[in-house]
Amino acid sequence: MSSKRHFEEIPCNSETPCKYREEDECFEDIHHEAFPKSAYRDGLEKRFREHVLNKVLICRAVHDDIHAQNLIPQKPSPEQMIQFMARKKDTDEN
Ligand SMILES: [Zn+2]
Repeated sequence: MSSKRHFEEIPCNSETPCKYREEDECFEDIHHEAFPKSAYRDGLEKRFREHVLNKVLICRAVHDDIHAQNLIPQKPSPEQMIQFMARKKDTDEN
């Protein structure tokens, strides 16, 4: 009954180029949708950033692309972070 592995997954896609897969083999790692890490410092912000809905298990090449675009997501207000996490809890229990 673990809820730890609820991440969205974006696996390596054999129909799109992936330099890792082409050179050797691809691996997936965790992308945090709330970035950069340095913007999420206090307890609430860290919990929000590490929230399961804010993490994606993702092909490393796709992950590279996301950060290469350097489009920093807007940081939610503390109220929005609390609402986001509360909403997720509700749906989990239903
Ligand atoms: Zn890949």
